[in-house]
This record gives sequence, C-alpha cells and structure tokens, in this order.
Amino acid sequence: MKIGLDLGSTAIKAVFVDGEDLVWRGLAPTAPGQEAIAARLIDEGRRALGLSAGASVGLASTGYGRNLYQSADLTVDEISAGALGAFKRSGGAAKVVMNIGGQDIKSLRLSETGRVLDFKMNDKCAAGTGRFFELAARILDTPLEDFGLLSSQTEEEVELNSTCVVFAESEIVSLLARGVGRESIIKALNASVARRAAGLLGREGATGLWLDGGPAQNRGLKEALEDELMMEVQTLPEPQYTVAYGAALTLTEGKAIV
Ligand code: ADP
Repeated sequence: MKIGLDLGSTAIKAVFVDGEDLVWRGLAPTAPGQEAIAARLIDEGRRALGLSAGASVGLASTGYGRNLYQSADLTVDEISAGALGAFKRSGGAAKVVMNIGGQDIKSLRLSETGRVLDFKMNDKCAAGTGRFFELAARILDTPLEDFGLLSSQTEEEVELNSTCVVFAESEIVSLLARGVGRESIIKALNASVARRAAGLLGREGATGLWLDGGPAQNRGLKEALEDELMMEVQTLPEPQYTVAYGAALTLTEGKAIV
C-alpha cells in the first residue's frame, strides 16, 4: 500500500493506492497547520481501510506545500506527479494535460511513455483558476457542484470581458443587476477560463488533451474548452486526485513505515 499526499494551494488531497488501484481518497481545505490536517486525512484513510498503525505503507508528498509534511519517504514535484498520474489514469492516452488548480494553471506535454516533455504555468493571475470559480460561486450563491449542469441549461451568449478577477467580480454583479440569469453567467465564466487555458496551450496544439484539477469536475468547463479549441477534450477520472495518485506511484511497494 502507498499513500500520495498533495498539499495544494486550495485543497489537501490524500489517496491510498494498492498496486495501481486507487482504494481510498479524501480531501480537506488548505488552512494553517497543513501537516496536522494531512495527518488527520491519512488516519481517516487508514481507519477506513482497516490498516493497523504499524502497517508498512510508504508516503510520497507533492504540491506546493510538500515539504511541510515532515515524515514523507519521498517528496516529488507536482509536474512529475501530475504527468505520471494523468498518464496512468488515462490508460496511457493523455498526450497533453491541462491542470487547472486553485491558484494556477499548467499545461504539460507528455512523451509516449508518460514522461514530461515540457510544461507551461501561469500563476500570475487568478482569473483562469479555481479561485475565480470559488469567488463567482459566492457572488452567484450557487455551489460549484452545480456549475456544469446549470451552464448546459442555457443557449444565451453573454460576454465576460474582464481579464482580472477584481473587475470580473463587478462585471458579474452588474450582469446580475441587469437581470441576466446565473446559468448564462456561469456559461460565460466557463468560456472565459477556457479561453485562458487555450491561450496557455499555444501553438503546439492540443491533440490528446485531458483536463485535470478540481475545476475539471465542472463539465461546462470541458465543453467550453472543446468549443474554444474546436476539438474533443477528455476529463481525467476524479481529476482532483490525479497529482496525489501520481505521487503515490512514484513509490515502490511497501517502502517504508509512516
Ligand atoms: P490545488 O491543487 O491548487 O489546491 P485543486 O486541483 O484541488 O487545486 O482545485 C481546487 C479548485 O477546484 C477549487 O478552487 C474549486 O474551484 C474547484 N472545485 C472543487 N470542487 C469542485 C466541484 N465539485 N466542482 C467544480 N469545481 C470544483
């Protein structure tokens, strides 16, 4: 059994992996005291799986806070972990991975064997990230879980032009004041994040693109990206856990005791 721990900017994710099977997953919001939060998640997983305290389980940590978990057997950067996780979870089909996280957005290009050929990252601006969706969810008083369904319920085309979260916030408020439905605003939000994601992919193209990260659970975003790129885009299964899963796979079986 192996544990992958992804200390992300927005959420801490833990997975237990048996061979290559993801057998338990859990997450908690990132907050001060990340090591204790991670330890609680791991305890929860151990209890759920009936693992004794002394069971031999290796742990690999990743994510921007990976060094905060002192007792990891291995730390791995989130680019390598994300690439390995996406490659395996896509059955080897992913050639390009677009990971939209809480505070950044990354595109990874993979080799035929799942190695990272190159990657690009935009962490300068919140407008194309999960934080942007969270902010919009608060203004619209609508859970993120509903964004995919709601955006599919409208054909209305609304433009969100602001390239900055602060201005986008007032743009959303004024759209609401004009009586524009939240379905249409969510559709416009998806389109605006998809435009940014497509911009990061650049000229090399996006054939074999798989969407990853927490916001990939919103299928309206995948549809918006397909419209933007005019090609099919796949979503990784349980996309918020890909990076933690990839980290776990970097361990060899039963390496050390947590
Ligand atoms: P990080 O690794 O940077 O912490 P994640 O990949 O965990 O980021 O993604 C966090 C983001 O996922 C949140 O900011 C939120 O926008 C989005 N998110 C979380 N749950 C859902 C959901 N059920 N549907 C749509 N988006 C979600």
